[in-house]
Amino acid sequence: MVVVLLLASMRFLAPVDFTIWAFQAKLFERVSPVDIAYVDLSPQGDTAAESAASLNRQVLASIRAFRRADAEVIAINVALRKSNSPSVDRDLRNELISNRNRVLLTRDDHGLQGDLAGRTRSDPYFEAGMQVVDNHLPKDFLDHVWSVEAFAEEDGKRIPSLWTRLTRTGRPASAEIGPDYSILIEGIPRFDSAQLMAQGAVEPRVPGGSKVVIGSPEELRISNQGQQPSGFIHIIAAATNDQGHGTLVYWNVLLIGVFAALLACAVSRLSKSKRKQAYGSLVTAIVIGIFLAGAFGVRTEFSDSIALLAIYGGFRALARYKRRHLLLEPRSRLPNFVALHRDLGGDEIAPNLAIVVAKVARLDSVFTTLTPGEQERYLRQIADRLAIGQGGSTIYYDGGKYFAFALKTAQFEDLEAHLRGLRAIATQSVEVGARLFDVSMTIGVDQDAYRTVSNRLSSAIAAADRAREAYRPVFMITDFQSDREDWDYSLQTRLEHALSHDRIDIALQPQFDLVSGDIVGAEALARWFDEEQGQIPPERFIGQCERVGRLDELTERVLSKTLDSIEAMSANGWAPTVSLNISAIQFADEGIADLIERQIVGRAVDPKGVTIELTETARIENFALARRTIERIKQLGMRFSIDDFGIQTANLETIYELPFDEIKIDRLFIGNLRQSTKARAITSSLIGLARDSGMVSVAEGIEDNATLEVLKGLGCERAQGYFLSRPIPPKDLSKLLESRTKGSDGRRYHG
Ligand code: C2E
Ligand code: MG
Ligand code: MG
Repeated sequence: MVVVLLLASMRFLAPVDFTIWAFQAKLFERVSPVDIAYVDLSPQGDTAAESAASLNRQVLASIRAFRRADAEVIAINVALRKSNSPSVDRDLRNELISNRNRVLLTRDDHGLQGDLAGRTRSDPYFEAGMQVVDNHLPKDFLDHVWSVEAFAEEDGKRIPSLWTRLTRTGRPASAEIGPDYSILIEGIPRFDSAQLMAQGAVEPRVPGGSKVVIGSPEELRISNQGQQPSGFIHIIAAATNDQGHGTLVYWNVLLIGVFAALLACAVSRLSKSKRKQAYGSLVTAIVIGIFLAGAFGVRTEFSDSIALLAIYGGFRALARYKRRHLLLEPRSRLPNFVALHRDLGGDEIAPNLAIVVAKVARLDSVFTTLTPGEQERYLRQIADRLAIGQGGSTIYYDGGKYFAFALKTAQFEDLEAHLRGLRAIATQSVEVGARLFDVSMTIGVDQDAYRTVSNRLSSAIAAADRAREAYRPVFMITDFQSDREDWDYSLQTRLEHALSHDRIDIALQPQFDLVSGDIVGAEALARWFDEEQGQIPPERFIGQCERVGRLDELTERVLSKTLDSIEAMSANGWAPTVSLNISAIQFADEGIADLIERQIVGRAVDPKGVTIELTETARIENFALARRTIERIKQLGMRFSIDDFGIQTANLETIYELPFDEIKIDRLFIGNLRQSTKARAITSSLIGLARDSGMVSVAEGIEDNATLEVLKGLGCERAQGYFLSRPIPPKDLSKLLESRTKGSDGRRYHG
């Protein structure tokens, strides 16, 4: 508005109005009968005095002609000068005086000073005792006259403008008028003074013939009608007045109206489409206004209002452009997380929504091989898949690894199951440019109903980070109440502390060769002694490690300590194989192989002396992936054992699919060997299976000598159990090994 006011005050946009007015005049131009006549004067003569005589003669003849035609008003629109012919001057003077009621002389004092103003006036010889009107016409820079005033002020006196005396009533309808140039001058009766002079017989026939303008001081431009004697403008102004047209509507009136309308649109709580309609109607109203104003000869200044609309529209378009670019992620052209904040209300608590974040791994390396167009298609395919089954909810992309969306929790009975299914769909490989790309993805969810959307977005990102693709691809953070049992907060803080302060130790449980009775190996078992809660069973803290995504860290510490103990024992000349437990869920990506390689490098340990016991094999989803990882580790020389074989789904398929070197028969069967023939049959067949497929059989959980004897009878190769030895600290194992080699009783079982 300020800009428009500035422009308006400088009349900067006047050319726009001129163009509109010219357009209006052209559009509605018409030949309408006008009852005011015009007389052209064409004075001739070499000197000023000669031409004055010629002019005076022509004026005289014209007055006489129109007097005979009984004209009501005869306006002499040129300044009369004394000529070199006193008789002509005298005749003219007499004619003027005798017709002083109908003859008007003219002058123009507008803005003209002294001599200049004087030049527009008739000689006092003619002017004395006559009616004088003002014939000033304000011109624009192109010599157009768009509005004329009804009076000129002189010494506090009002001198009527010529055109006002040409109107039917002789009085103007308003103080200023916009001549309506759609009135063509063709419709104005026009005479030539020479014609009128030729023979006194020529009678000017003017329809209604009551008024006439004789001559013009200058030529001005009439819109679409070229240069014309200025007298026509007075005639058109009078005709405009008589038709009831020519009202002026100034820029401020319209501008205030448009401004008020825009303000109303802006502050009202109209919907987006309603607002658009309102803007549309405003523009339409202006266009219709231009037509109506043209049709009714209303001289309206539209330019500033149009400028206001244009500037407003420009600003809005700019804002929209900025917003669009601010809210769209450029690579995928998906809405970004700023848009998510805007759409979902970042600071609001939306209890019925779950904020879901999908993290796509290795995006960077995929991008390096794709063109920008392919990158967009890749990202969009992932987004489309995530959108499946969400009932049209928007998928947001942060430009990095994260996609996010909100789900109405009420729609899903089992949200986690739904998301696992969704993940399975979304991680199908994506085809871009005839190539297939794997998608690996973890999903984090925060459905804590009592935190803000933006807090939950952050924690869903953290959850997606913590989720391990391999074994817990969907990681849910639910609200504190419902999560209490699963999520042991007090244990959690202590566990974090234990991990970061290296408080997790190992115990080694010796394994014996059943033929020789020698200690041939040991199993490393994680031990955590907490100052408050005492010994915490591995089942409890391992589960917790998994929930918080720190199982790898635990494995790393246990492995490091296991390798330490192997190093210590081999320094003493012993080389027992030591097993350690790793959950199968850690084998679905190659992270675990990296971890093991990292640990073994630079160690004085023969990898052949390390056996990895795969626990929880039931949770292997993808054997091909697991096999790839296992084989990579076996390349190092390490051996693999299947733990707890025979229970849950540590089954024959697992043995068949994966390259194990050893079977650990679960203590469910071992513990029941003495009393159950079935347990014995199963154990026997498992031992046979191991032998026939080239694997070592290990029995675990031997608690008495009788069991041991049965196992020997069945041909089991190795044994482990409380009867033989409890899990003991590594240094105790060293001592035990020392005493056994030195001791007199040789290699006896240690109960
Ligand atoms: P597991 O691998 O089957 O380990 C053998 C478990 O049987 C150990 O329990 C051991 O103390 C116990 N045990 C040994 N001999 C006997 C016996 O004669 N009778 C009975 N009743 N039990 C015996 P622990 O130490 O409580 O470990 C439990 C499970 O925790 C282990 O089962 C293993 O699956 C897991 N675990 C232990 N350490 C780790 C580790 O560092 N990483 C992983 N992923 N899992 C581990
Ligand atoms: Mg084990
Ligand atoms: Mg076991």
